[in-house]
Amino acid sequence: MTETRKVLVIYTGGTIGMIMDEESQSLVPIDFEKIFQHIPVLESMNVEIDHAQMDEIIDSSDMNPQFWIKLVGIIEKNYLDYDGFVVLHGSDTMAYTASMLSFMLENLNKPVILTGSQLPLGMVRSDGRENFINAVEIASAYEEDTPIVPEVCIFFENRLFRGNRTSKFNAEHFDAFISGNYPVLAEVGVHIKYNKVYIRKPAYKALKAHKKLSNAVGILKLFPGIPLSLVNNTLAQNDLEIVILESFGAGNAPTNKEFLALIEEAGKKNKIILNISQCKSGEVEMGRYATSKKLLELGVISGRDMTTEAALTKSMYLLGEGYRDSELKRLLQKSIRGEMSQ
Ligand code: ASP
Repeated sequence: MTETRKVLVIYTGGTIGMIMDEESQSLVPIDFEKIFQHIPVLESMNVEIDHAQMDEIIDSSDMNPQFWIKLVGIIEKNYLDYDGFVVLHGSDTMAYTASMLSFMLENLNKPVILTGSQLPLGMVRSDGRENFINAVEIASAYEEDTPIVPEVCIFFENRLFRGNRTSKFNAEHFDAFISGNYPVLAEVGVHIKYNKVYIRKPAYKALKAHKKLSNAVGILKLFPGIPLSLVNNTLAQNDLEIVILESFGAGNAPTNKEFLALIEEAGKKNKIILNISQCKSGEVEMGRYATSKKLLELGVISGRDMTTEAALTKSMYLLGEGYRDSELKRLLQKSIRGEMSQ
């Protein structure tokens, strides 16, 4: 008989936790004490499931740094008592939360699996039941005493992704997430097939939960014909220390003098400009085209193949931890939690 594992389910809000209230005929958050009534099969799994509810249940569009800090606090408080964690979360900003948790939870040595659904749990065709059951199974999957997936992941529609490599790309289909620059960590069919070579190795160290975040980070998304005033408004804002430049293709940007002068000006004011591609796959290669060579000369740094979600949350985390100047630039350009290719 294999050991019964313990999983803590943390419900943050989002579609997955909704059921139809007969009386009001509207969708209301589920009463978690009754989860086994909604998904009876959970009772036959060899897993002890407890739940923790955030003091506030939110649509994930309302996600914010304070919420992340509370969420990390719950995981930290319960870390030694559970074998794995499942975070039920709205899909809209799930990739941001998964990325952020990966940075805030240093030396993570247990699975933290985020999942949600496109249809509420209380609907007949809901994708929530499968997602939930599989997330619990993965969060409790151990070989001997070693967790198979000791990292922050997103499970959605039969696939397990590294959280900080993932973006939401589909608002309609059940397979709502992609990981354009990193292979899936597991695929669920008749069996759960783990791609072990791509999964992070256990960190046999004590968990360090970081809870200081900065919001001195902005995103500037380029588009053909972008007004200089818009570029200037973002780059000249005094309270932003890092601006993520969402550039074209392999890191390219307009070459007109006025645009480049604004980039240069921002650099002189000690702002870090981090170049991330708008493409969901591939990477920034500054210098490959003339249109990015100039950025390189002006001190713009490359976020290579990071997602925007990872770049943003990593910046908030590193600034919050107090990193500045050359050390900050060094860490932004190197993988610290598997968020970019080596
Ligand atoms: N708006 C919802 C949310 O992100 C959508 C979902 O749950 O998938 O909370």
